[in-house]
Amino acid sequence: MTTRFENGIVVTLGEKNRVLWNATVVIDGEMIAALGDSAAMKQHFPEAEVVDCAGKIVLPGFICTHHHFYSTMARGMGIPGEPASNFVEILERLWWKVDRALDEEDVLLSAQLPLIDCIRNGTTTIIDHHASPAFRDGSLDLIENAVRQAGVRASLCYEVSDRNIPGGGIAENKRFIKKVGQGDGQIAAMMGMHASFTLSNATIEECVGIAREAGVGCHIHVAEDAADRVDSLAKYYRTTVKRLHMLGVTGDKSIFVHCVHIDEDEMDILAETGTSVVHNPESNMNNAVGVTPLFKMLKKGVLVGLGTDGMGSDMLVQMRCAYLLHRLANRDPRVAFMEAPQLLLQNNATIAQRQFGLKLGEIAEGRPADLAIIDYQPPTPLSEANFLGHLIFGLVDATVDTTVCKGKILMRGKQLLVMDEERIAARSRELAPLMWKRLQEL
Ligand SMILES: [Zn+2]
Repeated sequence: MTTRFENGIVVTLGEKNRVLWNATVVIDGEMIAALGDSAAMKQHFPEAEVVDCAGKIVLPGFICTHHHFYSTMARGMGIPGEPASNFVEILERLWWKVDRALDEEDVLLSAQLPLIDCIRNGTTTIIDHHASPAFRDGSLDLIENAVRQAGVRASLCYEVSDRNIPGGGIAENKRFIKKVGQGDGQIAAMMGMHASFTLSNATIEECVGIAREAGVGCHIHVAEDAADRVDSLAKYYRTTVKRLHMLGVTGDKSIFVHCVHIDEDEMDILAETGTSVVHNPESNMNNAVGVTPLFKMLKKGVLVGLGTDGMGSDMLVQMRCAYLLHRLANRDPRVAFMEAPQLLLQNNATIAQRQFGLKLGEIAEGRPADLAIIDYQPPTPLSEANFLGHLIFGLVDATVDTTVCKGKILMRGKQLLVMDEERIAARSRELAPLMWKRLQEL
């Protein structure tokens, strides 16, 4: 089927970003077939279905390179006792109970809801990190089904950790990696690992062996809080990145999430091995763990992308948060204007390409047909020269109207076409209090 998305302002992104007014994107099947002036495209593709994009900006679908779907049901939950006063307490009192309290239906619902959120925010590719020890085996299949139903792309993994049982989760990753293989462009697999401070050398070595044999990368939290660095130095006499590197976790398909508490030697290892880092500014601020040395890493040539860490699914909000955080942290109003969009628009596309083998993040002929179509009437002239100004100060607050992934319209006119949001949210409201109750008993 061929569809013309016409009369919009198309922002192509890619190496040579172009802003095309009154332009049309033609989609044929799962790919972009053509791009050009609306009148010319109408002549070339007269039989195509038409989606009018007047008053809208057409962008490539957004990519989130670190998410936790499973965190959904914690929203609004009360936590008994004193408030957690540091990062490790946040894990012990909140997240390590939330994941243990999830049962089978919770896992499904808590994937479906953020997937709906992704579609609503034009996020069409997600790299997720899952944990549900009480319903572990087969959990990734359930999430895969939810992703396929939603129609977006996702790379999935299960969080291996020694905190409940040694090597817990290895088998689920191994099974899923084998099943997915090199992926089909919609679903990919990684070896998921929690963090250095909850993993023994033996567990890490086993994970790395499986990942290497299958040719997939490892997805692990690294030095999110100073506690991870302190633990690595105390137990293994080396810094976190160094320890993980010596055990073989680094590599150009691997993702090291956060890297807040790392030194220059560790940054050099990340750059030399081509290991990706994913920055999650909102999460770092929420957990009060510190500020990622973003500019130092970029200067050294580390590939740094942008994730939400489960805080949400709106990537433009996350991008502006990075912009604001690093201006304030550096007390310098000259920085981050280029870098924050770069993480989202360029680097996330490169990280996703390593997972899915697809060139996402650009509207061009022959590229995958993933689009975020946003209501936006530019109040000032808009061109390639000032697009970032519109992105940071205008588009961030605009509403996504239509979302397309793999050539399929998932939402049109703000109406979800692929999932019953009302039913799913209602069922989640029924089950969440039961999950909270189980959690209190852990
Ligand atoms: Zn995370």
